[in-house]
Amino acid sequence: MHMPNTETKPGFFKPPQPRPITVRRTIRITEHLQRVIFTGDGLKGFPEGWESAHIKLLFKKEHQTQLTLPTLDPKGPIWPEDQALKPDVRVYSVRSYDAQNNELAVDFALHEQGVASTWARHAKPGDIVGLGGPGGYCPKPPASDYYLFAGDLSALSGMGGLLATLPTDAAGHAVILVPGPEDVFELDRPDNVRVSWLYGSETPGSEAKVVSEIQNLELPMRNLWAWLAGEQSLVVQVREHLKDRLGVTSQQMYATPFWKRGLDEDAYHDARHDVMHALEN
Ligand SMILES: Cc1cc2nc3c(=O)[nH]c(=O)nc-3n(C[C@H](O)[C@H](O)[C@H](O)COP(=O)(O)OP(=O)(O)OC[C@H]3O[C@@H](n4cnc5c(N)ncnc54)[C@H](O)[C@@H]3O)c2cc1C
Repeated sequence: MHMPNTETKPGFFKPPQPRPITVRRTIRITEHLQRVIFTGDGLKGFPEGWESAHIKLLFKKEHQTQLTLPTLDPKGPIWPEDQALKPDVRVYSVRSYDAQNNELAVDFALHEQGVASTWARHAKPGDIVGLGGPGGYCPKPPASDYYLFAGDLSALSGMGGLLATLPTDAAGHAVILVPGPEDVFELDRPDNVRVSWLYGSETPGSEAKVVSEIQNLELPMRNLWAWLAGEQSLVVQVREHLKDRLGVTSQQMYATPFWKRGLDEDAYHDARHDVMHALEN
């Protein structure tokens, strides 16, 4: 299936129909981070330069012999009437898309349990998943004097994609909470963007370490832009700190809770929107 070019106006991409894509290869970046590189006709026409854009990945359930994809209607996806055919849906971020080789890379956090994490741990060439998106406007960071990134393993796909494509003279800091030293790796980034790796992400409450680290940074408030993603309490606490204590405005931030301890994506999906709504007000 060839994906039509759906860039209707500059920077805007109308979400294409969900389509199958295939694993070409995998790279274990660290103990708890797996890069999966996809290819296939379903990727042709995928927009370039959309690092960190959200995509949906659809996984065949254990009892299903075949992956059944929905049809996208202007009002949303139309699923097969037989609920037993509905796949599991999870949200991921573009690490990179290489049009020349038609390769989409996504970095998966490997955690204890979960459909997507387990799938990524065992992914092998030839495996097929469904792809939904991307859509909307290209998530490019605005030109800024200073970029602050904060997140955990789940944020590394989008964060890594953005860091690798910032202008070479960009300045800033990335604060990353991971399980332990075995999860540290060299991030491709401009020389003046520093990185702090913090450990203990598997322990509830560890998110406060990210706030403490940011408190110790000398942040230039003028023309700062922040990108925050990861477990809900990490995003909420860092956002509150930046907004209430330092006066960083909503326009200066991307802040999205990616997951919540103790809830799977099906249970968290609606709650995430409530949290984001509350954050905006
Ligand atoms: C916009 C957006 C972009 C995202 N991009 C990425 C991405 O590029 N890479 C990525 O790895 N994740 C990303 N996520 C997060 C990912 O969608 C969730 O972590 C998702 O729950 C993983 O699905 P799962 O099937 O593995 O686990 P689920 O079945 O959803 O959850 C099972 C259990 O694992 C816990 N859990 C879920 N995620 C994690 C985690 N990261 N660490 C520890 N425990 C966890 C849950 O709380 C639950 O108890 C993104 C989320 C959003 C909203």
